[in-house]
Amino acid sequence: MMNELSVIEKLKTTHNAGRDELVFLLNNITGNGREALRKAAQETSLRQFGNKIYIRGLIEISSYCKNDCYYCGLRRSNKNAVRYRLTEEQILSCCETGAALGFRTFVLQGGEDGYYTDERMCGIVRKIKDRYPDCAITLSLGERGEESFKKLFEAGADRYLLRHETADEAHYAKLHPESMSGAYRKELLYKLKEIGFQTGAGFMVGSPFQTTENLADDLLFIKRLAPQMCGIGPFIPHTDTRFRDLAQGSLELTLTLLSIIRLMNPRVLLPSTTALGTIHPKGREMGILHGANVVMPNLSPAEHRKDYAIYDNKICTGDEAAECVRCLAARMRSIGYQTVTDRGDYSEKPIAGQL
Ligand code: SAH
Repeated sequence: MMNELSVIEKLKTTHNAGRDELVFLLNNITGNGREALRKAAQETSLRQFGNKIYIRGLIEISSYCKNDCYYCGLRRSNKNAVRYRLTEEQILSCCETGAALGFRTFVLQGGEDGYYTDERMCGIVRKIKDRYPDCAITLSLGERGEESFKKLFEAGADRYLLRHETADEAHYAKLHPESMSGAYRKELLYKLKEIGFQTGAGFMVGSPFQTTENLADDLLFIKRLAPQMCGIGPFIPHTDTRFRDLAQGSLELTLTLLSIIRLMNPRVLLPSTTALGTIHPKGREMGILHGANVVMPNLSPAEHRKDYAIYDNKICTGDEAAECVRCLAARMRSIGYQTVTDRGDYSEKPIAGQL
């Protein structure tokens, strides 16, 4: 007989579970199960990383986007969105601030903005690498395509985040216009890995039309792809989208999924996201206690913060970079963890002892 504790035990010892077992666990987990799962995930994370939390400096480079993802506040047909893009100089200045604050990873994220041609983007990557040779660059710029990815990798980018959003292609089609395809997005993730990027997949929890089976398939897709990073956070409605009246993803479910992802992928770099911090004041702390090991303070220029509005009520839109770092470091300390300035690359070996 399947029961929640047997599935949790299997996840803990084999780092795997079948689709039926995952669906069962997600549908039937009780308070006891949640605590057992959380504890197992936290222990796994502590074994791999110790109580050290990697920090990534997030630079939101553009709110222009040529895509039209139905859930996203920056989708091109949102006429109310305030659009901005950072110049090379502004991006470099964010990196300068970040480097002084101890960051060794810069994450350049943005909408799919044609302004950043391969030439421009490679130039920016080279300049950052030139000035900060010991820093890693993570890009999160959408579906640029294989040739573009190769050029960016050759220019020196180390990592690429491209959430698959949902592994189920029919579900994907309910969240995106016809011009986009879930199959293509997944294919790009395999390409990114093949090119040599430390690659990040991920999905929103509680996205419109999402079923428990969809979530099980997301977990199994991540297991198959074996990405080095995985970003998940609750879906949060944006007022200027068709999903404005829908409920946000639940805190408990997001935490449960973080824990399952940690157990299935013990070494994966797993952020406790801003979206999690947006739906609960202690969301990011809870994410760490459920197995996450990364936080991403915002380094974007304060005057543009509020305009990178992918969902409503995003936190940290009024803070300067230094405040974001201090605040997150204090939050981590409050739960017995310590933010560190390591590059925090993916490692096949447990690194807890080396830090
Ligand atoms: N254009 C880039 C970056 C997108 S923003 C790309 O396509 O990869 C990063 C992530 O924010 C998205 O992958 C999506 O999972 C998440 N996101 C977008 N809208 C959201 C919403 N309304 N609620 C929660 N997360 C959202």
